[in-house]
Amino acid sequence: MPAKEIAPKHIAAPLLAWYDRSHRRLPWRAPPGANAADPYRVWLSEIMLQQTTVAAVIPYFEHFTTRWPTVEALAAAEDGDVLAAWAGLGYYARARNLLACARAVAEGHGGHFPSTEEALLGLPGIGAYTAAAITAIAFGERAVVVDGNVERVVARLFAVEEPLPSAKPALRTLTDTITPTARAGDFAQAMMDLGATVCRPRSPDCLVCPIADSCDAARRGIADLLPKKAQKAPRPVRYANVYVLRDRGEILLVRRPPRGLLGGMLGLPMSEIADAPMADNTHPGAPALTRWSRGEGRVTHVFTHFELHLTVFSGDLSGITKPAGDWRAADESAARDLPTLFRKALDFAACVDDF
Ligand code: SF4
Repeated sequence: MPAKEIAPKHIAAPLLAWYDRSHRRLPWRAPPGANAADPYRVWLSEIMLQQTTVAAVIPYFEHFTTRWPTVEALAAAEDGDVLAAWAGLGYYARARNLLACARAVAEGHGGHFPSTEEALLGLPGIGAYTAAAITAIAFGERAVVVDGNVERVVARLFAVEEPLPSAKPALRTLTDTITPTARAGDFAQAMMDLGATVCRPRSPDCLVCPIADSCDAARRGIADLLPKKAQKAPRPVRYANVYVLRDRGEILLVRRPPRGLLGGMLGLPMSEIADAPMADNTHPGAPALTRWSRGEGRVTHVFTHFELHLTVFSGDLSGITKPAGDWRAADESAARDLPTLFRKALDFAACVDDF
């Protein structure tokens, strides 16, 4: 059944009035009504927020903007410094694209982000959603901004029963029909805020919702059931070994190859990833020939497309030649620059105190 039509004014007016009163105060935002925000801060926040929660992003955002207050400053940063500052946010391809994009803006656009979706889409790491979000929020131009929160609100508003992800094009079209020309950035952020605080995934608070009068799912009592999601295939499980090599209060870290999983990041020495666990008496990828002790159990880390089970081996140099690498004091500072996967492995090995 085609979704019912809703006049844009029935959504935008009450939603923007609600946003003026109830918006989330976030460090990258301009106040409601400003109709523009610093494109660097909008872009940085949007890249950080991909697959990561607002609460987790805020301290990273503040650290980045204090250390690199402009896109030119970020473009001039050392790769290793940016990757280390990103450690813990996950999805490290985003950090590499972040730097590539900052450099493209600094070198190819005179340090100014372009203001159209088309031009933004030409920059590294900027996809359709991010281009639309920057266009609307930073430049106040009309754009159809659809993130997960917006998809949920629109699926309920129009009672779309087709499951995600196949419903995505229809949800985008429906979002287009309710997107106003005026206050485009505020409208996008209001939809996001409504999804995050009122039209929540579970138990939407329809009684306080500013657009409840127009909402088909609320009227039919099916809000909790939407959006439907197609069953996902289970994530495949993969295996690898990691090695915690110690020498008099130091541990060995290595820079990972630039391409591939966690490319360019600092990490613990690690084997290739395999479809089955490796035998305990073989130590593929080990940084030294020493006596390795295997930790009981495994560390599990979930990536988008697979689940990685890590077997953690600990060993001491005990007189053998020190292999090359980045030897760090075995304290909290070593863990700080590492992706979460390796922090978990260090924690598991109980090799570093206090984290
Ligand atoms: Fe979501 Fe309820 Fe508002 Fe509909 S009325 S948009 S289901 S919170």
